[in-house]
Amino acid sequence: MYVPDSGRQLRLYPLDFCRNCGHEYYSVRRTKDAGTGKEVFLARGGETREENSPQDGYLYLSDPAWPLDEDEMLRRLPDGWLEEKNGFLRVKSSHKRDLPESVRVTGLGEIVRDGSGQRAAFVESNFKFCLCCGINYLGRTGKLTKLASLSSEGHSTATPEAFAKQGGLVHCGRDMSCRSQFLVP
Ligand SMILES: [Zn+2]
Repeated sequence: MYVPDSGRQLRLYPLDFCRNCGHEYYSVRRTKDAGTGKEVFLARGGETREENSPQDGYLYLSDPAWPLDEDEMLRRLPDGWLEEKNGFLRVKSSHKRDLPESVRVTGLGEIVRDGSGQRAAFVESNFKFCLCCGINYLGRTGKLTKLASLSSEGHSTATPEAFAKQGGLVHCGRDMSCRSQFLVP
């Protein structure tokens, strides 16, 4: 999508929201662009946006971003994901592959490694915990018990104002379908 007055192209993504705290997640599919060879996050389509494959997942954007520092990250994880070993806290081995992956993305959803773009965290497939409020969703089955989407619920559980401050811009159409876009400096 071309954004008037900005001279920039931005990719739009469907939004889902944590049922506990309302933080937004961009519903994405991670794939490789055949033309450029770059890894890119595409918008996930479909009415229900169920999680189908490991390439399907959610992007989390926040300020500050998901921590790179391990100690800080441990403080953000649900208690049930941690264990103590020799007096130190660590992530249980059964949860290591569930950890969010820190990435940098451009406004077109491309994953970049040169320090440009915006920091985000990618969580694969099943949504296991909220990176914002830390609620543990393990054991809950079905996406709808964990995430809400504006298109399915109107504005009852999510207000655009709450998300605009996170750096996302929400556009609402007449049919109440909402889309958000990255705002990358
Ligand atoms: Zn939450």
